[in-house]
Amino acid sequence: MKNTKYVFVTGGVTSSLGKGIIAASLAKLLQERGYSVTIQKLDPYINIDPGTLNPYEHGECYVTDDGAETDLDLGHYERFLNIPTSQANNVTTGKIYQSVINKERKGAFLGKTVQVIPHITDEIKHRIQLLGKTGEFDIVITEIGGTVGDIESLPYVEAVRQMQWELGQENAIVIHLTLVPYLAAAGELKTKPTQHSVKMLMQSGISPNILVCRTERHINDTIKRKLALFCNVQQQDVIQSIDAETIYDVPNLMFNEGLDRVVLEKLELCSEKQPKLIAWNQFIQKYKNPTSTIEIGLIGKYVELHDSYKSITEAFIHAGATNETKVKVRWIHSEELTPENAAKRLEGLNGILVAPGFGERGIEGKIKSVQYARENNIPFFGICLGMQMAVIEYSRTILGLKNANSTEMNENTPHPVINLMEAQKSVTEKGGTMRLGAWDCEISNNSNVFEAYTSKLISERHRHRYEFNNAYLKQLEAAGMKATGINPKTGLVEIIEIPSHPWFVGVQYHPEYKSTVLNPHPLFVNFIKAALEQSKK
Ligand code: GLN
Repeated sequence: MKNTKYVFVTGGVTSSLGKGIIAASLAKLLQERGYSVTIQKLDPYINIDPGTLNPYEHGECYVTDDGAETDLDLGHYERFLNIPTSQANNVTTGKIYQSVINKERKGAFLGKTVQVIPHITDEIKHRIQLLGKTGEFDIVITEIGGTVGDIESLPYVEAVRQMQWELGQENAIVIHLTLVPYLAAAGELKTKPTQHSVKMLMQSGISPNILVCRTERHINDTIKRKLALFCNVQQQDVIQSIDAETIYDVPNLMFNEGLDRVVLEKLELCSEKQPKLIAWNQFIQKYKNPTSTIEIGLIGKYVELHDSYKSITEAFIHAGATNETKVKVRWIHSEELTPENAAKRLEGLNGILVAPGFGERGIEGKIKSVQYARENNIPFFGICLGMQMAVIEYSRTILGLKNANSTEMNENTPHPVINLMEAQKSVTEKGGTMRLGAWDCEISNNSNVFEAYTSKLISERHRHRYEFNNAYLKQLEAAGMKATGINPKTGLVEIIEIPSHPWFVGVQYHPEYKSTVLNPHPLFVNFIKAALEQSKK
């Protein structure tokens, strides 16, 4: 059993400073030094999980093996650490209140008034320590969502204060991520916003142990000294985090600034081992020195917010590096694609990826782009809804089933080639009720997917309610679309391909969630490879 140490990451001044990337980079360095580390995200919103949030609100919903619908930061944690996260790695205010209220109804607090302190804060502490208590981790890094001073973050900050008091500063430290803006008119970096946000933390009883300062310009020693003096830390505990070319540079930058070293010092851990980041740096080397460029069209309806497709674009980066190719993304709004403009908008692409999604909006544009990829021999990758669109397109154009559709889009379609799953028919609630998480899939020999995975049995993560309608399987296969991946227990079609096409693969699952820096996803790698071959024609 390990004596788990806790590192908390809070944010000040403004949101979007990249707490998730700092947390993941620190974790990476500690992992390289031989510690077992995990990262957890606490989200102060009241939704139970982001599964019911529109991607425009909060970006992509990330899914874990055990079927948790989570914040996209968990994707960064997995991509950096190369170890899976789980239900316990993402906690929301909704989850906290739900469990406290359920306990209250059961009579667990009989006789007591249930209050934010101690009942909500106890539940928060319990959730933070759940990961520590598994005995698996030397260090648990907990990122507190939102910005210090937000009404909703208060119970979290109080829980952190209590944990530091209970466990001692050598077992629980606070890193405060803040902004040091450069004012062009004054020609100066400004420390005041940081001073204010640290004061705010101090009012809640927390004196941060380390400051990580996001900045566009180099922070010199004079400024570091000033920050240290006014924020009650040592000068060596003021860490500069300057804008990076790519998020994957941040672990190296943090190492150069000594973040992992001061963290270990404060936690009274002494590590002889230096982080080497060998495989990591090989990846960066390839990523930054591509020998060719290809362009992939990403067809989706949330393209205004690129974060909606975070795991997909990161998977392109990993797969691009493997192929020593720069992957340019052409963002195409599916609603804007019409039969008239499709050829023009899609012209010159070396690959087309039709993205996951829900509901009717934009689907005709997606179907059009499938057809374009299929007819012009352009490598095609359909993910979840994208795979379903490929089935619909083939049914309409090749089988001549006019108005073939998914019952999600048209309940009364004469040809429901994509149908609501049997198990979903009795589902009435929207939250957490999809087919979620990891499921097995058996792969056929002689397929693009077998070539990629080089394995007959795979496991991938899911998030859907509709499925390929097996009543149409025979017809589709006879016409040249093959089911090359099947769930061995239920017979659900997980993968479709068109063998006569150079590379046409649709998957019901989400391969993007499992692509990491050290393990680029094989399907993304081969999709990019096929696109690269296409580009040479
Ligand atoms: N809307 C489709 C379904 O529920 C696809 C979901 C997705 O793309 N994640 O089956």
